[in-house]
Amino acid sequence: MTTPLLPNFFAGRWQTGADTGTPLFDPVLGTELTRVSNAGIDLAEGFAFARQQGGAALRALSYGQRAALLNQIVALLQANRDAYYEIATANSGTVAKDSAVDIDGAIFTLGYYAKQGAALGDATLLLDGERIRMAKDPAFQTQHIQVPTQGVALFINAFNFPSWGLWEKAAPALLSGVPVIVKPATATAWLTQRMVKDVVDAGVLPVGALSVICGSSAGLMDQLQPFDVVSFTGSADTARIIRSHRAVSELSVRCNIEADSLNSALLSPAATEGSEAFKLLVSEVVREMTVKSGQKCTAIRRIFVPRALYKAAALAIGAKLAKTTVGNPRNESVRMGALVSQEQKASVLAGLAQLKTEAAVLFDGNTAPLVDADASSACVAPVLLGTESPMSAQVLHTVEVFGPVATLMPYDSIDEAYTMIRRGEGSLVCSVYSEDPAFTAQASVALASSHGRVHAISPDVAALHSGHGNVMPMSLHGGPGRAGGGEELGGLRALNFYHRRTAVQGTSLALDQIAAQGAKLPI
Ligand code: NAP
Repeated sequence: MTTPLLPNFFAGRWQTGADTGTPLFDPVLGTELTRVSNAGIDLAEGFAFARQQGGAALRALSYGQRAALLNQIVALLQANRDAYYEIATANSGTVAKDSAVDIDGAIFTLGYYAKQGAALGDATLLLDGERIRMAKDPAFQTQHIQVPTQGVALFINAFNFPSWGLWEKAAPALLSGVPVIVKPATATAWLTQRMVKDVVDAGVLPVGALSVICGSSAGLMDQLQPFDVVSFTGSADTARIIRSHRAVSELSVRCNIEADSLNSALLSPAATEGSEAFKLLVSEVVREMTVKSGQKCTAIRRIFVPRALYKAAALAIGAKLAKTTVGNPRNESVRMGALVSQEQKASVLAGLAQLKTEAAVLFDGNTAPLVDADASSACVAPVLLGTESPMSAQVLHTVEVFGPVATLMPYDSIDEAYTMIRRGEGSLVCSVYSEDPAFTAQASVALASSHGRVHAISPDVAALHSGHGNVMPMSLHGGPGRAGGGEELGGLRALNFYHRRTAVQGTSLALDQIAAQGAKLPI
């Protein structure tokens, strides 16, 4: 049976694609859920509408007023949470606690930006730094200001966070006064479309402030103009295409890339078997491998432990992973659901085969039966790999397997551990487990240049920490090198991407007038 097409909200109206579209599936049951298409839709019209109508309406508001709109979105999404969980179960194959990472994570992030934005009050521009004298006479000075860019923000998003991936970007964009066009990944586009639909139907935002276009990405980049911005999350291969597009290379369209990453966890050289640091690392590795079936860009892929603890760590991680029941997320005994699609299952199995050319299997959950799901589903159980010669490995430091897979590696000196961690060529996050604040500080600084975030864990923060892979809005998200070189979130730093910085050089009398419209960036 052919399922209905999801309409796109574009150019201020609902538009349905003109062909039969691409089907979305339940990754556990294999049933077709809905279809997406944007065939025949006038892309130029939609971009122009967002730029002109949506942009002008948003910029007519202050930061405080836009923050109030974010708060209304929070209330609306909260009211519809149950429907979002149902879509996530059906389309992403996630258990409720994994759906929460996406759905409640989004609501939390929106709420955070609503609060931060409210503090900017009636301002319509941002004052960046203090006034600087340009001459002996203070009448002539420079004030750096930031104003919202007069273009659209195009989001091309990945399949693993259809909710959070939209709102973690849209919150700072809308707060900045920049209209959003989101193109969700096809496999899980339904949740993104439904959330936009709820916001549009409730009339929360000015028309044109938020648009959704599902289905093919063809032609989207061609629409971008110099004052637009594009924020891409996805694979390194697609990132290359985005970066080399004329819009970026010739028109200087500002571009943020969040790509893949071989994130690490590092156990202190002073740790002993059964020490608190050891236990904290083991728990976090197991959590990271299994949350969202390992389909998190921030998940731990490589685990570095002192050589003396290699076998103990393998046993402890394997013992915990053995308790992870895998299968149909509708069964309450299931702890870990499916990968999002058959394509992802094939990709994970192929990646696993590649890693196995350099690593042995230390634990394989796939020997246990699935719960309420059969082998034809997209379920894959956790696999822990390991090698005793990680310094000579190549594939293990370069291939990201986007599923419940990690590799354990021993190190002989801390410098060797740092060297191997850096062979990820730039990652989103590294976590460090130690009971010694001096080592934690040293490791954090040593790893900072190759990571967007260092998550430094010790027993005193065991019950407080936010988790290796959880992206929190007050902290930076992104990473150098192969992680994409992008920056998102980080509190009000996120507004930078959607603003243009200008140095106004002129009479202090005019600068006084500008200052009256501005809020000082608190960072
Ligand atoms: P992907 O295949 O690169 O797709 C990402 C998005 O790009 C999708 O919306 C896709 O649309 C679109 N796309 C595909 N080809 C395109 C083209 N030629 N021009 C413009 N857009 C195009 O990546 P994915 O498989 O969805 O995501 C998994 C990857 O994302 C992993 O490597 C993961 O590490 C990374 N990721 C990174 C972060 C981060 O924050 N750093 C977060 C999540 C995921 P269709 O779906 O319609 O093809």
